Amino acid sequence: MTSLAPPFPARSYAFSPYTACHNWIGGAWVPAASGETLPVHNPRHGEVMGHVAMSAAADVDQAVAAARAAFPGWRDTPLKERVQVLFRLKALMERDIDELSWLVSHENGKVLAEARGDVLKGIECLEYGLSLENMAQGEQLDVSRGINCSITHEPLGVVAGVVPFNFPIMVPLWMLPQALAAGNTFVLKPSELVPYGALKLASLLQEAGLPPGVFNTVNGAQPCVEAIVDHPDIKAMGFVGSTRVARALYARGAALGKRMLCLGGAKNHLLVVPDAELELTASTVVASAYGCAGQRCMAASTMVAVGDVQHIVDAIADTTRKLRLGEDMGPVIHQAAVDRIHRYIDEAERMGAKVLVDGRRVPAVGGKGSWVGPTVLDHVRPDMPAGCEEIFGPVLSILRARTVDEAIAIENANPYGNAASIFTSSGAVARYCIERFDAGMCGVNVGVPVPREPFGFGGWNHSLFGQGDLTGYDGFRFWTRPRKVTSRWALSKDATWMS
Ligand code: NAD
Repeated sequence: MTSLAPPFPARSYAFSPYTACHNWIGGAWVPAASGETLPVHNPRHGEVMGHVAMSAAADVDQAVAAARAAFPGWRDTPLKERVQVLFRLKALMERDIDELSWLVSHENGKVLAEARGDVLKGIECLEYGLSLENMAQGEQLDVSRGINCSITHEPLGVVAGVVPFNFPIMVPLWMLPQALAAGNTFVLKPSELVPYGALKLASLLQEAGLPPGVFNTVNGAQPCVEAIVDHPDIKAMGFVGSTRVARALYARGAALGKRMLCLGGAKNHLLVVPDAELELTASTVVASAYGCAGQRCMAASTMVAVGDVQHIVDAIADTTRKLRLGEDMGPVIHQAAVDRIHRYIDEAERMGAKVLVDGRRVPAVGGKGSWVGPTVLDHVRPDMPAGCEEIFGPVLSILRARTVDEAIAIENANPYGNAASIFTSSGAVARYCIERFDAGMCGVNVGVPVPREPFGFGGWNHSLFGQGDLTGYDGFRFWTRPRKVTSRWALSKDATWMS
């Protein structure tokens, strides 16, 4: 079957089944060699919307063979021609934005506006890749009389990406534009929980004119990912997911001498001081904590309340209580996530935290699906699991500190280092904090300090294993290797015909 993926028909939250999700290899939909599949659940309804292939080493081999075969032709296609495919992909994504947004909403559970945000941010990442045709010209210099050194950035060959469930369109597009524009061929392993975003991307790339084999997908879980890491013909792998997996895969790939960049989980701290502007702070913290049901690596999962900011804590609790489940906030990904989140809340309460807003016993929207209401925990301490570990759900843990230095010490002591933000109306306080945060992405009065393109995305410490950011120009560097050429083209003495 080489046809485009069938359209996803839903234009509301009403349950809609979808097609079987096979692998996309060499320009064709291919079931896993074993025939194994896994049900894909719609988290809002808790119902099976389709099945996804569960691949293993044989399927990875097949995808890599297709990508290898496509590499010479794609590498030899000029960059300016390669990016034309990405220009067409952008137009097609804009054409299909409603379909893509509803599909993301159904497989992941995001409310429509958030799902649309996933697609729009993916398009923005694509735009960065498009701009490489005007930026990736390399460098050259005459380093001596008659001697010139130049650098070109060469593709690596077959490369791979492994992505999480929380942004089915955006995270693949953190990798694909730079990797493909640079001339690599790609094998993507989508999250088995949300495989349909990548299915649509494969289909749209085909429609955009990408030659068969340049982009492939293999669906599956741990065995499939390990086969990718171990495959000798895959030259580099980008990973985005939890710290436990990021760290293990980084070590496994690095031991094989493979180029690896593995982004992990997060525990982001927002510091709120007494001169913070009340309404802006309350609404921004709430939006950050509960957007995408807290399932964002940039979520404000931890707020450190410095000094007397009780009025802001009260406003945050009030704003949180007004959130409408199902309209402003969607479900979490599955029942196991509900159980995990409940355990964190239970444990925090048992250890002395105060539950200001309790999302544990909310009725499921429509009576089914995996729901947790937005939750505010106050007087959390860093030694409580809710105060130091990633919960990845709609829970805001408020810790108390007497001074800014005490709050910074709490942030610094946490092993993650994805993001941190300070809420204040004082430039001096903002600067003091930013200079001391131990985090790669920092904000001032911003709840989700994602660096928009062209700035690169990537955290520090246990939030990123490897070197450099995954997006922006660092992404291009990750998916390429520099070739240095030193040339001497001075006239030789017998070149008399010149004179
Ligand atoms: P996850 O680590 O469970 O899964 C990520 C990917 O790895 C999936 O494709 C999955 O199939 C695969 N995988 C899972 N377990 C594996 C194993 N043992 N061996 C090999 N592969 C395995 O993450 P998730 O639950 O899909 O996503 C949520 C996590 O991702 C959170 O921790 C979140 O903070 C993180 N995340 C980080 C960023 C970032 O930029 N740092 C961005 C998005 C999400």
